[in-house]
Amino acid sequence: MTDIKRLRYVIQRTPIIDNHAHNLLLPTEIDRHPFHLITTEAQGEALEDVFASLPHIRACRQLKELYEYEGPDEEWTWKRLLEIRKEWITSRLDELNHKCLEGTHVILMDDGLNLTGDEVYPYQWHDSLTEAATRQIVRIETEAELIMQYLHSITTAKDAQSEEFYNNIFYSFAELFEQVIRKMHDDSTVVGFKSVICYRSGLDVNPNYDAVVQQVHEPFHHYIHHFITNADDPRRFRFDCKPLNDYLLLKTLQLLSEHERPKPIQLHTGLGDNDMNLLHSNPAYLQPLIEAYSSVPFVLLHSAYPYTREAGYLTTVFDNVYLDLGEVFPMISRDGQEKVLRQAMELTPSSKLLWSTDGHLFGETYWLANKQFREVLEQVRRFSVFLMLLLLQFNFMSSIPLTIFTKVSEFSFDVRRLKSVGMLLLRTSFILKVREIFLSTL
Ligand SMILES: [Zn+2]
Repeated sequence: MTDIKRLRYVIQRTPIIDNHAHNLLLPTEIDRHPFHLITTEAQGEALEDVFASLPHIRACRQLKELYEYEGPDEEWTWKRLLEIRKEWITSRLDELNHKCLEGTHVILMDDGLNLTGDEVYPYQWHDSLTEAATRQIVRIETEAELIMQYLHSITTAKDAQSEEFYNNIFYSFAELFEQVIRKMHDDSTVVGFKSVICYRSGLDVNPNYDAVVQQVHEPFHHYIHHFITNADDPRRFRFDCKPLNDYLLLKTLQLLSEHERPKPIQLHTGLGDNDMNLLHSNPAYLQPLIEAYSSVPFVLLHSAYPYTREAGYLTTVFDNVYLDLGEVFPMISRDGQEKVLRQAMELTPSSKLLWSTDGHLFGETYWLANKQFREVLEQVRRFSVFLMLLLLQFNFMSSIPLTIFTKVSEFSFDVRRLKSVGMLLLRTSFILKVREIFLSTL
């Protein structure tokens, strides 16, 4: 095998640690979500223009391979794709799910996407599709909303009329939230926390916990009043007000900081839907928070697109910042993906780059992201020394492996023998052998 072929082999066959993804839909729910969401965050009428976008056109072409379509290219349209997909879902869904997750060793899953949990499989179900058991990422806003649902369920109409109720409920909430975060931190199946504050109120969070706590009471009373008086609003428990969202994040960071080795917090940055303020999704806003909670590992999700360079800067100058290369695969064009990868590599140390699919709802989002990431890695392989480091880097904070790891069967490294992600070790001889190969491709 030539050196280039070996390099390609490593890129194409490396099992994935998917550092951030979400649950798949239950079969009964699949038809209730438009499939053309797989390449876009657009919603409503804006979603209809996705058919004219490069990510959609590319995904449509690539999915021919997944569905094993062998007919004439000129007959391959989105309509035809949906028909063939329907056949797979009806008669071969299990096989399709396995194909979509092929090559994934383990998923670190944020299962807080669907509050009621009745549309998606529980996170443990995904174990059947991967080598190692799925680990959980706890979405703090979802936990807060579940607590408020519980407190509401034990509140009588009479309680809700007393002034004392309004004064006490914040303290009840704060105590329960603290209990949940502590419990999750001690739970070995939980490998990290995640906040969607970027989508709700932006990343410009005041790092002064005491000041934020002082200002949270009045907005909290408004929040309580809203959900008590708007029983028909399906989103009435949602934390969507800056003082409350800032409080949740700061409280979590305070609690994580108490540990000698805190589990990481993942934060969306950059790319997102129209709920989000694009300017306030710039990770540069996080600098005061990153400095104030310097023992907590911050993982910046979504490649921070289009602020990838800003995120790279933060990873370079702060010990506790990591950059995730997810979401842009398959959400932006191939040319854009190559640029994002190059921009990330301009500054980010290879030990601080993570890979994720941000796969969600449809197995195809996992498949497309992994396929496109491997393609683009090959394309930018002229950064081969860096790539070598990227592929071979192992990092463990808490039990999170922070980047993809590699397997080359010809070097007898058998990943299936590794029982737990936290136990992963790479043999020195293996590293040296692959380093040799990479260096010879320069
Ligand atoms: Zn996500």
